Amino acid sequence: MRVLLRGVDILGENRADVLLEKGCIVRIAPSLSISADKVYDLDGAVLLPSLCDIHTHSRQPGSDESETLESFSKAAVHGGVTMACTMPNTNPVVDNPAIVSYLIREAKRIGLIDIYPVASITMGQEGKILTEMAQLKQSGAVAVSEDGKSVESARLMRYAFEYAKTVGLLVMVHCEDPSLSEGGVMNEGDVSLRLGLRGIPEISETIGILRDLEIATYVGARVHICHISLGRSVKIISRYKRFYPHLITCETAPHYLIFTEEDVEGYPTNFKMNPPLRREQDRKTLLRAIKSGKIDCIATDHAPHPDWEKELEFELSPFGVVGLETWLSAVVHYFVNSGQLTWRDVKRLCCDRPREILGLSPIDLTEGNIADLVVIDPKREWRVEAKSLFSRGKNSPFLGKVLKGKVLLTIKSGKVVFEDV
Ligand SMILES: [Zn+2]
Repeated sequence: MRVLLRGVDILGENRADVLLEKGCIVRIAPSLSISADKVYDLDGAVLLPSLCDIHTHSRQPGSDESETLESFSKAAVHGGVTMACTMPNTNPVVDNPAIVSYLIREAKRIGLIDIYPVASITMGQEGKILTEMAQLKQSGAVAVSEDGKSVESARLMRYAFEYAKTVGLLVMVHCEDPSLSEGGVMNEGDVSLRLGLRGIPEISETIGILRDLEIATYVGARVHICHISLGRSVKIISRYKRFYPHLITCETAPHYLIFTEEDVEGYPTNFKMNPPLRREQDRKTLLRAIKSGKIDCIATDHAPHPDWEKELEFELSPFGVVGLETWLSAVVHYFVNSGQLTWRDVKRLCCDRPREILGLSPIDLTEGNIADLVVIDPKREWRVEAKSLFSRGKNSPFLGKVLKGKVLLTIKSGKVVFEDV
């Protein structure tokens, strides 16, 4: 199968024709007059490597109400994603090799994306007994995490870092001190007071980060800090990174770069996530930090919920929003089209660094490399609506918004897995 992409702007820089064959990029030239099984006229749409999302919730194994691996895979490729790390807070919890293998195998069977499972730190995420990390790694887990919450016992966390270090597994930490955040539903501050909602203070996140950075660096283990939402967190992490640059990485999510606590006005449950949306100054600091590289990458924290759960009142509805399908579009709409980020920044934040964190090398858009690609038209507009999303979860903060930037093609190993040309 030969696929010819005509007139793509490689990384938004050079217009070229790109020929794909046997899963690879075989020719790149200003103009190719070659026959192919499939030819796409792309007229200046931008070519990037497909995205790697290191923080998602597939909800599988579990009930099919929120998501199935099929709908999850379709949502991913709709967003230009062909690799996703899935978090273990499922039902049952991903705490044994059988579930890890199941996820990898099922994703392969569906054939749209690769799943890189993250297993739990403790059995059943109960915070009592460590999982068998050596076996989990052997079965294909790329990291361990207690995401959704933190491991309460610092002593157990120390053992977790020691074990993970011994077997060479990454620990992805959800940093939250539950004694400070308990009962909170949004950022603590003037807005929460005005709305009469219980707040989650900044120190819940920063104390969590400080504890886990202290333990990880004491042990000498690799740590990845999930979904940071605060300017203060950037400062703390940067301080530790100066001394332990090879041990520490971190991520933020698109919603923290785009929205703030002010968006919680009116109690929209699609703006309820944990950690919560913070203040405008935090949003600005996070944006500067992704630009400068202080924050390594962007991940979606895609967290589908069925409508009936998100239709509950704000206090009762669960935390989390979907993000796979709007990730690249939103980054392009808000930051690339406005000149705040370059296409090279997007490649670094959404493709290269996430792969490096998993121990994989970046994909370069040159001849001979694997054809894991996305083509996005930065000028095409689309309205985000429940019916336009493939995920079973329609809980997107972008619902009703028009985004300028639409994925036209997602290609995995030379095969077109999503198409909207
Ligand atoms: Zn998460």
